[in-house]
Amino acid sequence: MLNLVLFGPPGAGKGTQSEKLIEKYQLIHLSTGDILRSEISNGTSLGLEAKKLMDQGVLVPDEVVIGMISNQLDSNKNARGFIFDGFPRTVAQAEALDRLLNTKASAISGMVALVVDSEELEKRLLLRGKDSGRPDDANPEIIKKRIVEYNSKTAPVANYYREQNKLTTINGVGTIDQIFDSICSVVDAY
Ligand code: ADP
Repeated sequence: MLNLVLFGPPGAGKGTQSEKLIEKYQLIHLSTGDILRSEISNGTSLGLEAKKLMDQGVLVPDEVVIGMISNQLDSNKNARGFIFDGFPRTVAQAEALDRLLNTKASAISGMVALVVDSEELEKRLLLRGKDSGRPDDANPEIIKKRIVEYNSKTAPVANYYREQNKLTTINGVGTIDQIFDSICSVVDAY
């Protein structure tokens, strides 16, 4: 099984690259952000709770997203593998993911981290906010808050995989196809 963690700050291009990767490698895309937004549009109680936090640019509780991922793994038993996008976002989530995969005799193959400077990130997010309809992309203060959350809680997740020799960093600035080719050369080596 190929289990890839696609990592990087908000706006790094994880969603864009995930779309291309799932097509090429026939993987299931698990984006916790997308799952949360679909809970919001379905008006579930989980969605209503999550929306309050997401609109402020802060993370939703670990147990909520871990439960969502666990459900997704159970309902995709015959998958060839998964791309985890926007998850794990804390070290506690990374540890829980290892435990979940372990119960399925599986493991993370590797993490690919997209590196993009903060000026470029803010530019991309504001541009996305113009037509994505995402309230958290439209407001510069919320974007800053998400980057602060990323630096304090999420960035340490890269070390978690580095310690397991599973981390590769990739330049996330360039054309979509250039970045895709760099990711593929890492994935092909797994
Ligand atoms: P981006 O990567 O552009 O910030 P996402 O769509 O991945 O956007 O996430 C949007 C919001 O959803 C986050 O700011 C956070 O509130 C929530 N969220 C998504 N994934 C997680 C997660 N794994 N843990 C906690 N909160 C999450």
